[in-house]
Amino acid sequence: MTVIEARQVVLSFGETPALRGADLAVAEGELLAIMGPSGSGKSTLLHCLAGILVPESGEIHFDGRRVDRLGESGRSRLRRDEFGFVFQFGQLVPELTAQENVALPLLLNGVRRAAAVAEARAWFGRLGLDGLQERRSGELSGGQAQRVALARGLVARPRVLFADEPTGALDSLTGEHVMDLLVSAARQEGTTVVLVTHEPRVAAYADREVIVRDGKVHSLTAEAIA
Ligand code: ADP
Ligand code: MG
Repeated sequence: MTVIEARQVVLSFGETPALRGADLAVAEGELLAIMGPSGSGKSTLLHCLAGILVPESGEIHFDGRRVDRLGESGRSRLRRDEFGFVFQFGQLVPELTAQENVALPLLLNGVRRAAAVAEARAWFGRLGLDGLQERRSGELSGGQAQRVALARGLVARPRVLFADEPTGALDSLTGEHVMDLLVSAARQEGTTVVLVTHEPRVAAYADREVIVRDGKVHSLTAEAIA
């Protein structure tokens, strides 16, 4: 069953076309890797799917709902209730500690503070971040911030996790560990994972790979690679 889908999505930034009729359907529980050259529209597509950007034309469907027709507040509610999003460079809230950043989605979902903190704390162990709970984002390395952002994306057990280059700042061993976690989120929790990566080694963990080129999505066939 398709859980999230882009149909003929078009979006430009001023004169720069980013998406030129992108089509993509993601199945529930699937781990999908989006590959493609730099500047091809991967991040823009992820932002459209997640309701962060609204396409100029085309449609975004999530679970029978038209995401692109929701207003600002409807889209932010959808993101809070159903999605996790891991930005390319983490984008942690700088005023909050790492642990408060991870607990935030739970608090926004009405989880009591003590339970949210306990749940957040468990993710630090899982991601090899023990001891960093009280640090602020300025006191974390790029790779540490990226893992904190991943914990924040997963903590509320979203229906769909979007992750933009989640292993980009990680050494290869830590990257493998993060991918194992995403695989188990998909396999054990049934989380749909849509990730952007330029690393074939990372994409190899996915159930399926697609390539974005010039703002369109191609399935990974010999024709698309040629
Ligand atoms: P990718 O993630 O594949 O590297 P992006 O989706 O970030 O590509 O970008 C697609 C195109 O849109 C590029 O030409 C990029 O320069 C442009 N672009 C992306 N974001 C912005 C923005 N905020 N303002 C202006 N141009 C943008
Ligand atoms: Mg990008």
